[in-house]
Amino acid sequence: MSDFNKCPICGKYDWLNKHTCPPKWDAIIYNRDDEENPEHAFGISAEAAALDYAEANFVRMEYPSEMEIWVRSHEEGSTWQKFEITVESVPQFTATPR
Ligand SMILES: [Zn+2]
Repeated sequence: MSDFNKCPICGKYDWLNKHTCPPKWDAIIYNRDDEENPEHAFGISAEAAALDYAEANFVRMEYPSEMEIWVRSHEEGSTWQKFEITVESVPQFTATPR
């Protein structure tokens, strides 16, 4: 069995025998989630955590083209950092023999 797998804590794919979770952040979708009762995201920076949370909640939001995500350090007394996230579709190519 390979050690390359999804971490059950942060949800990232990595070599789990060498894996350390990135820092944990509080995260909300502005105007949808409760500021007083935030969800969590993981990332090496506030920006990375905002993207992590946007990706994780993209389907729940019915594929928006933009959203506003707020993140703050999971430590007591930290303040929200706000990010406008824009979503772009990437073309997918398929070769079919004929
Ligand atoms: Zn992890």
